[in-house]
Amino acid sequence: MKRRHFLATLGTLPAGSVLVAATPPPTLRSLAADVLVIGGGSAGAIAAIQAARLGAKTILVEAGSQLGGTTTTGGVDFPGLFHAWGKQVIAGIGWEIVKRTAELNNDELPDFAKPTGRQHWRHQVRINGQLYAALAEEACVQAGVQLRYYESPLTVEEAAGGWRVRLVGKGTMVDVTAKQVVDCTGSATAVGLAGLARMREETRQPGTLIYRVGGYDPAALDPNVLKALQEKHAAAVKSGALKRTDINGSVAGWLGKGGESGNHIVGADGSTSESHTETNIAGRQSLLRVLRFLQQEPALALMEIERLQPETGIRETYRIVGETTVTVEDYESGRVFADAVSHSFYPIDLHFAGGVRPKHLNEGVVPTVPIGALIPKGSKNLLVAGRCVSSDQLANSALRVQASCMAMGQAAGATAALAAGSGATPKAVPLADIRSALAKHGAIIPRTA
Ligand SMILES: Cc1cc2nc3c(=O)[nH]c(=O)nc-3n(C[C@H](O)[C@H](O)[C@H](O)COP(=O)(O)OP(=O)(O)OC[C@H]3O[C@@H](n4cnc5c(N)ncnc54)[C@H](O)[C@@H]3O)c2cc1C
Repeated sequence: MKRRHFLATLGTLPAGSVLVAATPPPTLRSLAADVLVIGGGSAGAIAAIQAARLGAKTILVEAGSQLGGTTTTGGVDFPGLFHAWGKQVIAGIGWEIVKRTAELNNDELPDFAKPTGRQHWRHQVRINGQLYAALAEEACVQAGVQLRYYESPLTVEEAAGGWRVRLVGKGTMVDVTAKQVVDCTGSATAVGLAGLARMREETRQPGTLIYRVGGYDPAALDPNVLKALQEKHAAAVKSGALKRTDINGSVAGWLGKGGESGNHIVGADGSTSESHTETNIAGRQSLLRVLRFLQQEPALALMEIERLQPETGIRETYRIVGETTVTVEDYESGRVFADAVSHSFYPIDLHFAGGVRPKHLNEGVVPTVPIGALIPKGSKNLLVAGRCVSSDQLANSALRVQASCMAMGQAAGATAALAAGSGATPKAVPLADIRSALAKHGAIIPRTA
């Protein structure tokens, strides 16, 4: 249709409205940074704050609407583990924000002096995820981090003195020239775009859509009703009305905890928009199947959703092939790497379609993370932090927890800032400088020989 004719068909606009006939393509802008952090999740927000607090001009780009990633949008608002065997092993910026979140919301911290035995989750800190996102954002702003939500990298190319990264977003297209890039996407997306090797498993761990149901009193449910419900559940799984992984464990157990973290979304993959869309749809379909099934039971007819996260939490996608790869033997033996920059503490925690069987560490063991596992092999001016750390699948099942990711984020942010300041590559930054910068910013550094 001819433009003049098209405009004529619109008729008169309401008073105060202006006609905008077409959305112009975004104009390409240029920005410069010392450190560009991509992905503002558990690791990335901390990496950016650390880099900026060390004086680096820092940009943090996040595809979503808020910081925190799996901690907040994914609803895993119970970060752990900062303590091991009666003492704190991870502190620093992540701990600072977690503690501040608990304080501001008047939440109590667990009693870390009290041993948990095999119930390691008792030392996880229950926080309000959305408040954590707000406080992490405030810390970024105060440190001078330039935040860019709703953007993702399209290309990551080597350029003089570092990288040129093209970011695209809603009506935006920006070329960022950065001396150092820290990839905290959880899937090592920027590393892949830079043409460097990543690894993934043929069978990845399932994801989980976090939600909680209420509207019934679990203690008041008649044991005979529960028994019958378990039989109906088996029949529903057999007929295909429910998937076996919609309700993990027994129905009574699931109802007892309001369904929280009670499903597995098999094949979950958050590494591309398409796979993450499919994963989110699969998560929400699982929820709808469960709700419709359980509400048929008269005692559960008033079941309601108390909490529902906007995306399915992802446990595993890609990991980098780093200068060093942490193996499960390294992890379980508590190997102290010569270039260790942080601790990690969690049982080996590999989830499979039917559940999870945690394998606890021996008394006194506190694993470490080497800076070499955060540097993609053969790379210059590039680091990662978070669950895409170079590690085998079993070691990764423990390394991926949030306190460990936050500590890795701080280590990567410090190393990137020091590298940008000195013109060195991350590998060439003296270890003593990294450790000293981290210690000055509250981190706990593993003791090496
Ligand atoms: C169901 C479930 C239960 C868990 N239970 C626990 C637990 O009990 N305790 C514990 O401590 N940990 C737990 N974890 C693990 C832990 O939460 C995650 O491994 C950790 O949060 C990952 O941190 P990350 O920074 O690597 O990634 P994320 O926190 O996922 O952050 C990645 C960020 O990058 C952004 N991003 C991705 N791609 C792009 C792109 N191309 N451009 C821009 N931004 C991008 C994402 O939007 C996101 O914000 C659990 C995880 C899941 C899924």
